[in-house]
Amino acid sequence: MKRGFIFIFLIISFFILNWCWGIGRRELREVERRLEKVVGRDFAVRIKHTKEINAYATENGKIFITSKMLEMCATKEELAFVLAHEMAHIVLRHHQKQREKEVIGALLGVVVGKIAGADEEYEFRNWAKVGATLLGEKRSRKQEYQADEFAINLMNKAGFNPWGSVEILRRLREIYGDGPADIPLLGWLASHPVTRNRIRKLENLIRGR
Ligand SMILES: [Zn+2]
Repeated sequence: MKRGFIFIFLIISFFILNWCWGIGRRELREVERRLEKVVGRDFAVRIKHTKEINAYATENGKIFITSKMLEMCATKEELAFVLAHEMAHIVLRHHQKQREKEVIGALLGVVVGKIAGADEEYEFRNWAKVGATLLGEKRSRKQEYQADEFAINLMNKAGFNPWGSVEILRRLREIYGDGPADIPLLGWLASHPVTRNRIRKLENLIRGR
């Protein structure tokens, strides 16, 4: 008798958990499909189970969103912004452009090093690294703003309220602070420009300024 109860309890728990879990997943697929329809191509969006708040696009065109990030998204609009931002990185070929910039930066670094009087191999290597880092960083900040702009456009076209972008960033900022210095292990914010500036730019963009 007792065993029967436990068994039924476990079965019900399993379905309840599955149902709760399923909501996030179902909404993710729905949002993904609506955005894909506008872009005109499929993105392989995958969930990664980790406590880190992150979403990222890989060089071969896949998008990963962590379960914690999914949990942080309170509405479909917020989730749409996270996905649309990553889709933007892929569509705008940001990985490839970033690498090109780093190669140019490394070459410039070597030239500057030569002028500065470097003649050992390790010195040239250091100059190359400095050049790649400097040019690469500037490029990556620009790309983040470009991806945000692309995301707002995409959200508008797919029928999502673009203010979801500001809402998710504000919430993350409230919890985790403003920038990379405050949040060392927070992938999505740490690799992006200062959140305050991003929010301001997004607000201007949405208001059409
Ligand atoms: Zn980004």
